[in-house]
Order: sequence, then C-alpha cells, then structure tokens
Amino acid sequence: MTIETPPSLTPYILVVEDEESLATLLQYNLEKEGYLIELCADGEEALMMIEERQPDLVILDWMLPKVSGIEICRRLRQRGATRNLPIIMLTARGEETDRIRGLDTGADDYVVKPFSMTELCARLRAVLRRIRPGLAEDRVRAGDIIIDRVAHKVKRAGEEIHLGPTEFRLLDYFMQHPGRVFSREQLLNAVWGSDVYVETRTVDVHIGRLRRALGSESDPIRTVRSAGYSLDI
Ligand code: CA
Repeated sequence: MTIETPPSLTPYILVVEDEESLATLLQYNLEKEGYLIELCADGEEALMMIEERQPDLVILDWMLPKVSGIEICRRLRQRGATRNLPIIMLTARGEETDRIRGLDTGADDYVVKPFSMTELCARLRAVLRRIRPGLAEDRVRAGDIIIDRVAHKVKRAGEEIHLGPTEFRLLDYFMQHPGRVFSREQLLNAVWGSDVYVETRTVDVHIGRLRRALGSESDPIRTVRSAGYSLDI
C-alpha cells in the first residue's frame, strides 16, 4: 500500500501573478476546488517552473515584472512541449483588454480583473474540459454512485443522497481517485485547504456522516488502519 502525494489525477495549476493578495486568494479558492496550486510572482521563474514540471493549466497575469504575460505566452507556444498547454490570461479592465484581444497571444481564454472566483472557476473548468475531458467532468460515476458537480447532486443506485457541503467535497475528492488511500492530513488539505486549522479528528467525523448518508448496506469507504481512508467501489 502506498500513499501518493500529490495525487497525479488532481489538475496541477500554476498561478503566475505578482499581486500577492490576489495570488493568495486564488490559491485558497482553487485548492478548495480540489486543484493543486503553485504560485509564482515573476515571468522568468514561471518559465523555469514550467520546464521543471509541466502544469495542466497556467493562470497568467498580463502585467508581470521582467517578462510580461504576453511574452511568456508566446515563448510557451513556440516550444513543442508547451505548444498546447492551456493558458488563462488575467487582464485589467479597459484598453488593456482590447489590446490583448487584438494580439494573437495564443491564450485559451481571458478573464478581466476584477473577477469573481465563480467566474474564474467556470472558465477554468471549461478550458480543462475542452483540453483534458477526464479532468473536468461534470458528472462522475464510481460503482453505483453518480456525482453531479454542476447540480451538486449525488445518487446511489438511482436514489438521491443528501450530503452537506463538506461531505460532498469529500466524496467528490474520493471519486476523482477511486481506490487510492488518503491520510487524514491529505484529506484535510484537499477538502478544507492547507491554510485552515482543523483537527484531523474532524475528518473522521465527516467520514462518519458521509458513510451514514451513503447507506449502510455496502459501505464504499474503507478504513485503512493507521493510514487513512479510500473509496473502494
Ligand atoms: Ca500584475
């Protein structure tokens, strides 16, 4: 039995943004959505990080110190390995947006600041869905469980299951990685976020609620002693 970290099925997103408060906000919200996030504040460093480990998607600010977002985008499109790397460009409202749209930068989408997290997440899912369908499915099935991320509904064996928001995120996370064992700490980071202080015992409480909601006839969640939990279905 191995506990892998970070899980390879989690989309890895590099956020290139020099405005620290926005970068932190993006990290917090995107980690809550189940993405693995790395932050980077300058263009040159971003290019190096991408070379070292290619992300599934890059969120790229247009105005950056040293190398601009546009220039990074151009360079990535010139390299074979990153030619099709999904890029969402962040721009400021106003003429910058018109300018950026007029340029053929090769970005997959543009989001205008200030934006809501809901909007950004929707754009992000749309880009991921277009490029890597498996990463952003709205409806995911594991065994007799179906989770609908858009409608926020869960069904088991055709019956609707009512879950609280935390139980929903837990189940969603398990369903992205069926059969994989996660420690309580990994579940905390993935579902609650790494910067939220929650006791690991809390995980057990919510696992208990999730189990009860899913019905006791066949428990799909396996407790792995001294390791954590997995979805075995
Ligand atoms: Ca900036």
